[in-house]
Parts: sequence; structure tokens; C-alpha cells
Amino acid sequence: MKSHSMSDRPEDICPEPVKALDPAPDPLSPPLYFSSVYRCSNPSQATALLTGAESGYVYCRDGHPNADMLAEKCRRLHGAERAAIAATGMGALALLVLAQLEAGDHIVVSNQLYGVSLELLTSEVGRLGIRSTVVDTTNLEAVGGAMGSLTKLLVVETISNPLLRVADIAGLAELAHQRGAQLLVDNSFASPAVCRPLELGADWVMESLTKIMGGHSDVVLGCICGYERNFDRIAKVLSRWGLASSPMDCWLALRGLSTLAIRVRQASGNALAVAEWLNSQPQISAVFYPGLATHPDHDLALQLFKTHFGSMVTFTLSGGRLAGEAMIAAVSSCIPFCPSLGEVSTTLSHPQSTSHRGLSEEERNALGIEGGTIRLSVGIESADAIIEGLAKGLAAC
Ligand SMILES: *Cc1c(COP(=O)(O)O)cnc(C)c1O
Repeated sequence: MKSHSMSDRPEDICPEPVKALDPAPDPLSPPLYFSSVYRCSNPSQATALLTGAESGYVYCRDGHPNADMLAEKCRRLHGAERAAIAATGMGALALLVLAQLEAGDHIVVSNQLYGVSLELLTSEVGRLGIRSTVVDTTNLEAVGGAMGSLTKLLVVETISNPLLRVADIAGLAELAHQRGAQLLVDNSFASPAVCRPLELGADWVMESLTKIMGGHSDVVLGCICGYERNFDRIAKVLSRWGLASSPMDCWLALRGLSTLAIRVRQASGNALAVAEWLNSQPQISAVFYPGLATHPDHDLALQLFKTHFGSMVTFTLSGGRLAGEAMIAAVSSCIPFCPSLGEVSTTLSHPQSTSHRGLSEEERNALGIEGGTIRLSVGIESADAIIEGLAKGLAAC
């Protein structure tokens, strides 16, 4: 390789930018491009790159190769025309709001959304002059009643937290389209290995890649997938509002995605076995899993998901909060209490003290969340090992 140094002095050689290898290597695993900025060949090419007339990279906030490689994988997983990566799942939701909505618009959002999403889509967007109505989206009539002529967006989650209600995506999409609105589905509790909302009629699908898609609890990232015709403002908003992702996170998430299908297959099989086992235990008053015939949305889940019902299982101990605390303590060495989900190993969370702590007691009761309610994120260990761990926990209740 020829040197392009100004001099041969160490103080000049050390800070000198390293030239790319020539010929460029062709590695099997994706390289990690940490660079925040790229060389331009000349001023007209710089302008062409910055205006998008020529494809390529200039500045990391406007786009970088690791985000593009990850976006392409997400796009294909969801059968989408376009995909964009944001720094977090919330960033992906914010990206959509900022790109698609404006003051005066109205949105309809599910009352079972992830708490932080609910805050973003009610009080935060309210500050921007966007009105929202919160409804029970398992009731299509109520959704229809909440939509008006200014309604631009309907927002639901494929599988809700923590009672794992399943959204009638096809029905909701039809309803939204009849009213001239679009449907956004947060698919974070399902992943495209369980459900592909665009195929069911949704206009947008969002994933917190932090959860099941990343799968290893080592990144925070989000993605948004949809149709070419809706994507005009996405790239600009991503850059202007500073929502761009980090190359390292994208690289890790892409690696995580290489095992998504087999992780979800194994975890979903485990989850069904665990749910069936929990259902037969005397200390448990309720088990929520869409794969169980007793779940209110089982038929819908069969229709939408076909083979896998996901890795999330929620159950309620009849002994209340004390039993919940005893169980969490007894299993902590094998099933850690972590208020997130989608990790390769089994973890649990306690909705009353974490995700749903902001609700009043009555609101929680109305949803069916009690002190003894525990949400499991089932991992890819053997089902026997998970059940053994849970049995130890139940013995302590
Ligand atoms: C975690 C989560 C989000 C937010 O994603 P972050 O990556 O934490 O910003 C949104 N929706 C659901 C359903 C989630 O579980």
C-alpha cells in the first residue's frame, strides 16, 4: 500500500487517516463501519451524496452501512418495501409520528400499549397539537366509534403486555382504511418469526430490536418497515431529529437476527409447554398464553400466527403479592427478574411494580394485573429445565 503521508515524522504518521485496503476485501461476516464520516471525491459528488442524487455515505447521522445492512434484513423479514433503523424502539415510533403526523391530526391508540408508547402517543404528541383517543382495540366497534375525519393513524400491538391479547390486525387495517387512516402495528412481542403485520394489511410495522429481534440483551435499537409511497419523509426526519442508530448496535442486532427463526421456534415451543404445565398447578389462578385454548384470542392467534404463539407467558399466583415476591426470590438464581424480554435465557418480570406501576390500582385490576401476576419471557433452554426452575419457585409460594 502506498503511503500518502505529508512526511515521515511520527507526529505526522500517527494522526494520518488510514486508507481503505486495495483491493477491497470481501469478508463473509459483515464489517463494522465505525466511521462517523466518509471521504468525498470532489465537491459535486459531495452535493450528489448529500442530496441523495447519488447513493453512498457522507455523514453517519444521515446513514451508515451497518444501519443499511440491518434495515435490509428487517425489510425482508417483514416483506416490506422499505425499512429504517432508529436508535431505539421509541425512536422508531417517534420517527413515524414526526414523519407522518402534524398539528391538528388525530390518532387512535390501544389502551394496552407499552406504557412509554402510550405516553408518547398521548401526552407527548399532545404538546405538538396532535390529539389522541385511547380505546380498547380488542373491540372493533369501539375503535370505529373513536375514529373521525381527522384520524390519520391507528396504533396497536400484535401481542399486548402483559395479558398477551392478540390484535385483529386484518380487521383493524380494514377499518382504518375505510376511514382514510393508516394502521401501525408494534410487533415487538411477536417478531416477524411469529407474525408479519404488513401481510395482514397493516401500513406500518415497528419493532423494538432491543427485545426478541436482537435477542441477547446487548443493544437498544428500533426499526420501522412499510411501503415506498409512505417513506418520503422518513430519511429526512431520521437525520433532522437526530434519531440515527449506532453502527456497533446495528452490527450486534444483525448478528442476533441470524438466529431469530430458530430462537423463536424453540422459545415458542417451550412457552407452550410451560403454559400448559402452569395451567395444571394448584397455586395458579390464571395463565395467559395465546397458544392455550382457554385464551380469549386463541382462535385469532391460530388464524394470524399459524404455528408459533410467541415466547411470552403470563400467570397469576392466587397468593397475591406475597406469593409473587416469594416466587421471584426462589427462582432468582435460574430465572432472573429483569423488566425486559426476548433474551435467549428465560427471565421474568412483575408488571405491578415495573411496566404497569404508573396505573392506578383500579386500572390495573380492570386489566387483570395483580400483585401475584408474573410475566415470563421464555428462553431457548430445554423446557424441562425451565419447568424445574418454576416448580422450585411454586414450592416457595
Ligand atoms: C420495549 C418496547 C418498546 C420500546 O423499545 P425501546 O427499544 O426500549 O425503545 C416499544 N414497544 C414495546 C412493545 C416494547 O416492549
